[in-house]
Amino acid sequence: MEISVIAPVYNEELNISVIYERLSKVLSSISNSYEIIFVNDGSKDRSLALVQELSTKDPHIKYIDFSRNFGHQIAVSAGLDHAKGDAVVIIDSDLQDPPELIAQMYEKYKEGNEVVYAKRKTRKGEGAFKKLTASIFYRMLSKMTSINIPLDTGDFRIMDRKIVDVLKDMPEKDKYIRGQVSWAGFNQSYVEYDRDERMAGETGYPLRKMMKFAMDGITGFSNVPLKIVSWFGFMVSIFAFITILYTLFSKFVLNNTVPGWSSVMISVLFIGGIQLIAIGIIGEYLARMNANIRDRPLYIIRDSNIQ
Ligand code: UDP
Ligand code: MG
Repeated sequence: MEISVIAPVYNEELNISVIYERLSKVLSSISNSYEIIFVNDGSKDRSLALVQELSTKDPHIKYIDFSRNFGHQIAVSAGLDHAKGDAVVIIDSDLQDPPELIAQMYEKYKEGNEVVYAKRKTRKGEGAFKKLTASIFYRMLSKMTSINIPLDTGDFRIMDRKIVDVLKDMPEKDKYIRGQVSWAGFNQSYVEYDRDERMAGETGYPLRKMMKFAMDGITGFSNVPLKIVSWFGFMVSIFAFITILYTLFSKFVLNNTVPGWSSVMISVLFIGGIQLIAIGIIGEYLARMNANIRDRPLYIIRDSNIQ
């Protein structure tokens, strides 16, 4: 098997046939030895039926059907676990990632780059809020981690088998695949593209999922938030120590009983706030440790045509 393509699917009934056509066209121009793995991540529409129908007509089509929605990163992970290709492509099935770009990516891959990712020059059809938060997040993350996660890049990429094997050996449950790939090293290169609008249907990444994903990226690759907590604690302690000295001084030397209600309130609220933030940040790491200790399977497959 030369190329495997992994396409996670969550309520994409309107896009399946088009992505199938476009992928088949570009892949067959590269090699006849390819597979397209659709991972159905608990879709509530006809996505699975459409994929199954394609698979009866075209032996290149493989599918994995999850027992429920496990999330985009886990769907991709299941694809990686089952892909047989020497090179593996990850692509969204809403056609925001143009399948035709795979030809260019494959060329660069053949030149000796073990990873070729697709870097967004522009992003169409996404709200100003999503673009702004994404841009801030990726820049912040790159300042916080010691590994180099490329900016403005999603999971659309081609990877050599060597990288896929590294990813399969990484046991963490809160996946942040683009970070893991950067962490793995090897020769990494990119091609630039204009990101299209979603062809049809709705985003499966509402704000809630985006926040979780952002937290996975940070907690998976950085201890900076915990360091900020300790740093804050240190600063507040110095401040508190000086205040205690001043309080003793004014009580025993100056002998004036200060009314001081407002200053007490402010410091109590301030310290209370800092403590809650600190506990929250520690909690985020703890929750992830806990998930890893539980060691449940990452996903459950209901049905698949992969042997
Ligand atoms: N997706 C998935 N599970 C989910 C959410 C999304 O498998 O819980 C798939 C979705 O079908 C698409 C890809 O992941 O192929 C990217 O999701 P989407 O386009 O909804 O996200 P956006 O591009 O809006 O960030
Ligand atoms: Mg999309």
